[in-house]
Amino acid sequence: SAPLPLPDRTRVFTISNQKGGVGKTTTTVNLAAALALSGAKVLVIDLDPQGNASTALGVEHRSDTASVYDVIIGDSPLGDVIQASPEAGDLSCVPATIHLAGAEIELVSLVAREQRLRRALDLHLKQMEEPYDYVFIDCPPSLGLLTINAFVAANEVLIPIQCEYYALEGLSQLLKNIELIEKHLNPELNVSTILLTMYDSRTNLANQVAQDVRDHFPQQVLATIIPRSVRVSEAPSYGQSVIGYDPGSSGSLSYLEAAAEIARRGAPIIEGARR
Ligand code: ADP
Ligand code: MG
Repeated sequence: SAPLPLPDRTRVFTISNQKGGVGKTTTTVNLAAALALSGAKVLVIDLDPQGNASTALGVEHRSDTASVYDVIIGDSPLGDVIQASPEAGDLSCVPATIHLAGAEIELVSLVAREQRLRRALDLHLKQMEEPYDYVFIDCPPSLGLLTINAFVAANEVLIPIQCEYYALEGLSQLLKNIELIEKHLNPELNVSTILLTMYDSRTNLANQVAQDVRDHFPQQVLATIIPRSVRVSEAPSYGQSVIGYDPGSSGSLSYLEAAAEIARRGAPIIEGARR
């Protein structure tokens, strides 16, 4: 396949949806792997104490591993905790360990508590000779300080939406929260991308949900839909993306296609963007 266009500046995505189990981590890992395979330099920051993205990318995240916790709560430079993923291409990961579970509380009393990830990331990007093309931040399923740190560090929000009955419930709350972040903490934040996941074409309901989301967000929704597929759910237990695990599977091909759409669309144009 033809190489994808690379962005002129680092595109930092936060993958967010306050619901659990909608495909945030799966989307983070597989889009990152797909873009790395296409020649982009990619970093995944695991901001979920469960560490599922770290597992799926095959990086160490035992409790004594240097992690995103040391960056956000301690003062470790981001570069000190980055690990290379065994996936194909230039793909790295900042792992999350179980210590991150306490960070929500510990952050409350820290100075610039909403900006800690952004500062660490910006400093690291500035020091890199060849900065990343893409950074993906995998969020926990809540709207606490960790997720706020992700929104403040990002330029773009990608919302995965599961094609099920309750899909749109809670979405307006998420969008309201993102507006608040935009107003008070990060004026260049943009909900650029919505990805429909776990689609089962045999059900009318999935079709109906997909159509509703397209009607509400015609600009943001990617044409590609991720099907429900066993191969997608098996891959993490092998410490792999589905693209590494079963390159020809429907899940792999659809994530490759979604990544190509994201690359070809390019970053949204924001007046006066700092990054
Ligand atoms: P979140 O990060 O939003 O909690 P996950 O990405 O962990 O969600 O996905 C929840 C569960 O659904 C996981 O077990 C994952 O393997 C599975 N899953 C995600 N996407 C798919 C898919 N396209 N097909 C089948 N299973 C999927
Ligand atoms: Mg997750």
